[in-house]
Amino acid sequence: MRNLIFAAVFACTSPVLASEDIADQYPGSVLYSKPVEVIPHVWSAIGATAPPTYENSGHNNNLSFIVTGDGVVVVNGGAAYLLAKALHDEIKTITDQPVKLVIDENGQGHAMLGNSYWSEQNVPILAHVDAAHEIEERGNQILDSMKRYNGDKAEGTFVAAPTETFEDKRTIKMGDFTIEVLHLGPAHGPGDTQVWLPEQSLVIAGDMAFHERMLPIFEDTYTADWIETWNSGFEPLQATYVIPGHGHPTNMAQVRRYTRDYLVYLRAKIQDHLDNDGDLADAYYVDQSLYANLDTFEELATRNAGRVYEQMEFE
Ligand SMILES: [Zn+2]
Repeated sequence: MRNLIFAAVFACTSPVLASEDIADQYPGSVLYSKPVEVIPHVWSAIGATAPPTYENSGHNNNLSFIVTGDGVVVVNGGAAYLLAKALHDEIKTITDQPVKLVIDENGQGHAMLGNSYWSEQNVPILAHVDAAHEIEERGNQILDSMKRYNGDKAEGTFVAAPTETFEDKRTIKMGDFTIEVLHLGPAHGPGDTQVWLPEQSLVIAGDMAFHERMLPIFEDTYTADWIETWNSGFEPLQATYVIPGHGHPTNMAQVRRYTRDYLVYLRAKIQDHLDNDGDLADAYYVDQSLYANLDTFEELATRNAGRVYEQMEFE
């Protein structure tokens, strides 16, 4: 009885637990969650909408795969060797088809450090030229920072470069699928890659599109370019289904709301601030409460505002 009362009080007073705070959804695996089939033969293991931690093994982005009928295409190497291996173990329970290609969505650690596992399986790895450049320049530094949060879960991981690169587009026909690997333009970071299935109207968007968590604006993220690429390249795909870089699979309306519309909103707030001769110190605190429901809001909102201020000051 006492417990019941306590539970009732707790439920009334505590805020809704953000999914950011769920340490692991798949205790039997290094993966944060078990892959789900989004549309026929297209699967995704949804990552934590949180910063990378030991508890989520760095699985804080989506690791997807397409079972084409004549081999499997994996989208994202994953944050570590053991994470890539865990994804491969899941694939093997679903199909006997071999993995024939891995595509990295960009040059970030959670997209490419698991390349180490796939390279040992002799699977070709495809990335955009700019992502490959990023891996070459910063790979070891990215590996070191992964080791800091992942401890023993970093075991076996090394920097493995992509074996193939593309610039604007690569079309792959495999089994029952036509797979268009696209770089629609500058968006979140160097070499952002989108995987478009025109016949299924599904896009594996990479960091072009965020859902459920606040997007991070990096030093090399130019928000004006991102909005432009969204409007001129991403929106015209008219995708019915979207597997975003982060957050559950959804549709265009939802990722538009939490990606492009957020960027437009934040830029307008900062523009107002600039028009009123506001300085950087106050720019951090422009009102973003409309987006306070998003995971990683606490970590990122003020930092994002500062970055946008620094960019717009010189536009
Ligand atoms: Zn990402």
